[in-house]
Amino acid sequence: MRPFHSHMDLALEQAQAAALRGEVPVGAVLIDPQGQVVAADGNRTLQLSDPTAHAEIQVIRAACAAARSQRLPGHALWVTLEPCPMCAAAISAARIELLYYGADDPRMGGVAHGARVFDHPQCHHKPQVYDGISAQKSRELLQHFFAARR
Ligand SMILES: [Zn+2]
Repeated sequence: MRPFHSHMDLALEQAQAAALRGEVPVGAVLIDPQGQVVAADGNRTLQLSDPTAHAEIQVIRAACAAARSQRLPGHALWVTLEPCPMCAAAISAARIELLYYGADDPRMGGVAHGARVFDHPQCHHKPQVYDGISAQKSRELLQHFFAARR
């Protein structure tokens, strides 16, 4: 058993950094099987003009490039918001072992809501999912961001 250590604070820092760039504040961190941070990033869809540049995709791409592998077995992904269906599919394809997320996302989420990607019969790899971690902080970041835009 690995000693448990929360990486949600680092994910929240990445979410805050995303907000400062004008991006929807979502942050993600990928942890390797040894417990080391291998990637940390936030949303960059505006900056990169790329609708797939969600925080989760950013860290999965970086970690796969570093590992020179399309799969990340034994890795843990920490993300401040419930992943959308696209990111959930990428998490499954990357064979990520553990998924920790913060706030629920009834509108765009694809894990506990909507497509429920991991519960679908077509889903061949399902991570262990732990939700609600630092959910309040994550939700506040998003609420402040969208309130400021109105
Ligand atoms: Zn996503």
